[in-house]
Amino acid sequence: MEDVEAPATPTPGTLGKTVSPPPEPESTDPAVDHEEIEKLYEEAGHWDVNLGEETIHAKRIQGQFRRIKWYVASIYLLYFLGPYLRWDGRQAILFDIPARKNYLFGITIWPQDVWMLSLVLLTFFIALFTATALAGRVFCGYICWQTVWVDVYTWIEEKLEGHPAQRRALDKAPWSLRKFRIKAVKHSIWLTLSALTGITFTAYFTDAYGMWRDYFSLQGSFYIWVTPLPFLIGSYIGVGFMREQICFWLCPYARIQGVMTDPESILPAYDKGRGEPRGKISRDGSTKGDCIDCNLCVAVCPMGVDIRYGQQEGCITCGLCLDACDSVMEKVGRPTGLIRYMALVESGGKARLNILKRPRMMIYILILAGAMAGVVYGLVNLTPMKLTVIHDRQPLYIMLSDGSIQNGYTVKILNKTDNAATFKLSVSGVKDASVELLNENTTAPAGKMLTLTARVKVGADDAPKGVGSILFRVYSDGNPALDATYGSSFVGPK
Ligand code: SF4
Ligand code: SF4
Repeated sequence: MEDVEAPATPTPGTLGKTVSPPPEPESTDPAVDHEEIEKLYEEAGHWDVNLGEETIHAKRIQGQFRRIKWYVASIYLLYFLGPYLRWDGRQAILFDIPARKNYLFGITIWPQDVWMLSLVLLTFFIALFTATALAGRVFCGYICWQTVWVDVYTWIEEKLEGHPAQRRALDKAPWSLRKFRIKAVKHSIWLTLSALTGITFTAYFTDAYGMWRDYFSLQGSFYIWVTPLPFLIGSYIGVGFMREQICFWLCPYARIQGVMTDPESILPAYDKGRGEPRGKISRDGSTKGDCIDCNLCVAVCPMGVDIRYGQQEGCITCGLCLDACDSVMEKVGRPTGLIRYMALVESGGKARLNILKRPRMMIYILILAGAMAGVVYGLVNLTPMKLTVIHDRQPLYIMLSDGSIQNGYTVKILNKTDNAATFKLSVSGVKDASVELLNENTTAPAGKMLTLTARVKVGADDAPKGVGSILFRVYSDGNPALDATYGSSFVGPK
């Protein structure tokens, strides 16, 4: 499969083929606000691509992709609210590790049901592969925790320190009371947000309200104090300081995403055929390509990429350069879409394949559907009890003095409810079979396993010759939901 990955540093890119013919020479358009364009050159013209030497202070502009980013980011608010939601009088989402129980609203998931977790993980990874094959690092651009948090942290930075030029100037300025005050406020907010991130994570594993009481009274278990620390440090340093460097150098997904895309994947791409030869727009209507070389697409890029050099490893497919360029095109009265989502095949003038004709996509979709169906099946079929019956191997049967045949069984009942339950046992499937329990206690405590020893007796004439089938039923009179059957075998002499 052809690899579309291009170097992160600005070398001539992979989208250099003609997409559309260069525009006709333009005359001076009185509708173009040249003063505004001059301002743009002044503001963004000096922007350089990111070579990892300086902190990137990306410019923020409005646009549809910026809006989508905020919508997706707002979903993360649920992360902070999640631990405080209640359901049936208890924490709606709780991963109770000591009790080995997980609560998801009305559903209780036991260690025995954890197979579903592997399917959930499979679903997540295949969804990631599918998204990458469709649109490159779109997960990074819109959904990834790191990107969303960087967006929020830099928004705070902008509110306190001003636009990118002011931030760079403040960074370079000698220390003063003003600089100290601004930086102190910023870092305090960042630290608070980082701590909240870690504390919220911890709250999913304990009683969230009780945890806050413990914090305020400086009590509580060792874990509620230690668990937030990696998040605090990770968010403060990784998000506040390292930012896009994490995406460039540390994220394993960034390293492998190149092999998940192909020439059919749509990625932000500069229409070189339309844009070149780029050049400053002049008042006399000079004959240039549509790119007015304003650098705004570079200025808004959180990764510091210049997309005009082609698809690049560093591009997280966030679409912000599309917003930027569209806004410029509108200002100069040229068609939008000079930078747009485009597949490599389209840059060569071919049409993109239908998803259904891409074998890779079909395989991903099939695995995804299978994994999701498995999760849904598991959730729908979660039961409040689990029954297992094990036939004794030694001996397989006993012939009693009256000639009847007896088989021994171990019956294991897991009571997954929050209340103790007393169980009864019956058998069917073998004529006139009777069952006797050797245990006096048939009550399973809440959340605990009860192990019973059972003897099933069948008259000599009714016992199967060799191996027959028998059905065990275990039920609790107090709770109709606690009723399960298990098929086993009954062995008689041949
Ligand atoms: S090049 Fe464009 S799409 Fe890619 S990261 Fe930069 S702004 Fe986002
Ligand atoms: S591609 Fe668009 S935003 Fe980028 S420099 Fe050219 S005109 Fe400006």
